[in-house]
Amino acid sequence: MDYERAVGEVWAATRPHIGAGKVADYIPDLICVDPVQFGFAVATVDGELHQVGDAEVPFSIQSISKAFALAHVLGHDDASIWRRVNREPSGTRFNSLIQLEIERGVPRNPFINAGALLVTDQLLADTGDACGALCAFLAAETGNPDLTYDPAMAESETRTGNRNRSLAYLMADFGNVLNPVDEMLDHYFRQCSIMASCVELARAGLVLARHGVRRDGTRLLSKQDARRINAIMLTCGTYDAAGEFAYRVGLPCKSGVGGGILAIVPDRCAIAAWGPGLDEKGNSVTAAMALETFGNVTGLSIF
Ligand code: GLN
Repeated sequence: MDYERAVGEVWAATRPHIGAGKVADYIPDLICVDPVQFGFAVATVDGELHQVGDAEVPFSIQSISKAFALAHVLGHDDASIWRRVNREPSGTRFNSLIQLEIERGVPRNPFINAGALLVTDQLLADTGDACGALCAFLAAETGNPDLTYDPAMAESETRTGNRNRSLAYLMADFGNVLNPVDEMLDHYFRQCSIMASCVELARAGLVLARHGVRRDGTRLLSKQDARRINAIMLTCGTYDAAGEFAYRVGLPCKSGVGGGILAIVPDRCAIAAWGPGLDEKGNSVTAAMALETFGNVTGLSIF
């Protein structure tokens, strides 16, 4: 596979659109991000790395952290999460409250905010430090010991996080939260504020391309659970645009409102794309465009 040529074609196709979309404005520190940036990186299971543009610029990974959090919880042999969270696409916005009341505090899936809050809740119960566990994992997989969350971004999310607070307290009312609600929220806001570049995310994402095996050869989670996470990324990883992403990209993807999208080609590679401008569903316009081009050029798809 000529990844270098594919990355060049991604750059050519995406470059004229850099800056497209609208930067998320509901988290004050995200509005300050320069929209005219774009990065793309591919890390292969054979150790190749291909990158273009602002691929080494760290950005707020936001909901991409949810994929790694789920991997950790399942890696702790904690299938009990599936008694508290379902696995169906929601068809509603990532932070919607509507289904949660009707479905008695059990979120549709682990990647909408409600479900992700409970995954963080479980990781906090399992480890005592959910955000710390994720930062340590990402530091090890990327080889960047300084990889951590941005406290100012976390503070910014805390200040404006009333919708997440509403989701959390509603679930607590239904008896579906293990930890003190504010502690769970604190870890969730911090994990969303983790800063990583496309190169780092692609390297860390390899754990899913390798079916659960970490960089050092140890196993984070079982092969079967890694496969299941890829399935949930395909069906729920881009929220109410998951059908469109399956159609256009054909790969398991997890997006974040920081403008990043992580995509996995099982057994082959992990791809991270980033452009801060979002579409109306909260997914990056240029990152989606780049992944679609990459798929078209390489023919890589799970279908
Ligand atoms: N921190 C964001 C929130 O909770 C994450 C959402 C996202 O990236 N889609 O609203």
